[in-house]
Amino acid sequence: MKSEIWVFIEIRWGKIMEVSLELIGKARELASQDYEVAAILTGDNLEPFFCPLFEAGADKIYAIAHPALTCYRNDLYPGLVTQLAKEYQPAVILMGATVVGRDLAPAVAALLNTGCIADCCQLNFDPQGELLQIVPAFGAHAMATIITPKHRPKIATIRPGVFPKPKNASRTGKIEYLSLSLPSERLIFQEAIHEATSPSSLIVASIVVAGGSGIGSRGGWDMLQELAALLNGALGGTRPAVDDGWVPESQMIGQSGQIIRPDLYIAVGISGDMQHMVGVQEAKVIVAINKDKRAPIFQQADYGIVGDYKVIIPLMLNFLKNKEEVFR
Ligand SMILES: Cc1cc2nc3c(=O)[nH]c(=O)nc-3n(C[C@H](O)[C@H](O)[C@H](O)COP(=O)(O)OP(=O)(O)OC[C@H]3O[C@@H](n4cnc5c(N)ncnc54)[C@H](O)[C@@H]3O)c2cc1C
Repeated sequence: MKSEIWVFIEIRWGKIMEVSLELIGKARELASQDYEVAAILTGDNLEPFFCPLFEAGADKIYAIAHPALTCYRNDLYPGLVTQLAKEYQPAVILMGATVVGRDLAPAVAALLNTGCIADCCQLNFDPQGELLQIVPAFGAHAMATIITPKHRPKIATIRPGVFPKPKNASRTGKIEYLSLSLPSERLIFQEAIHEATSPSSLIVASIVVAGGSGIGSRGGWDMLQELAALLNGALGGTRPAVDDGWVPESQMIGQSGQIIRPDLYIAVGISGDMQHMVGVQEAKVIVAINKDKRAPIFQQADYGIVGDYKVIIPLMLNFLKNKEEVFR
């Protein structure tokens, strides 16, 4: 029997969280011929989720249905996942680095006496079959590759958006319904309140224009907003841009903000510190505009423009507004 890579599936308000599907896709890629990918699915009404999980790459679903599992609960879930892991001995357990995954993963790791590598931004097997768990370290000034050679299972959390959403393939797999005895309840569940939030526009945009502390004025941010709108893209920013109130926190890019993977990333007045760049390392093309030719961002940019953004952005706006004339 093949070892298994597990992905804990997060269901919120009747929907599978995108990060769970991203992790199924990554697990499928890691699994190759050597492992099976199993989705750990908990909740009440589970059938609607089977198809999307198989299509994303799961070989198998462990389905645990119980009305008490409708919402994540800290008194039930860690014991339940631990019980399951003890019985089926997976090689790896992956969870999204969400509020739920960040609570559940270390609790399960502690109960299983194994490690938990938090906030990974890459996962690979080395030729010896050791899982390489790559995380930003020292405030993202370095990337650390962590291995867990002695303990099983290997448990890791991964930020949403790090891995691409898998392309759905028409496939199916096995479903195993499990009736586990729930740990004794220590909380009285009264009500779940749905706070309406929309996913950050940054995550879905194929073009992102971002500004840093080099912008520094309302007029400058208006220009960036206009550029983003003309390109049909989204506007983001660095930590200082958020701290100064130019950009909402939800639009911050980097280690403590959003991880994005746009086709085109235009960084304006951004120095290129690791904590920021870790959020755009999967961008297909990076264009940097900075007046300091020694700014670190030029080391990572595909195209660099050295100059004052107040000169360059108006030229870009002008070009885009007149582009039909230019191409005529
Ligand atoms: C634990 C930790 C987590 C962090 N997480 C994040 C995170 O998630 N995201 C994040 O962004 N930061 C994060 N930071 C902060 C990060 O370290 C940097 O301080 C930040 O990214 C720098 O932002 P910046 O590039 O806007 O500013 P600066 O580093 O000040 O750079 C401004 C740049 O603008 C250029 N400039 C100035 N005027 C102009 C002009 N007129 N035209 C063109 N260019 C101009 C300058 O040459 C300079 O290169 C974190 C820090 C820590 C310690």
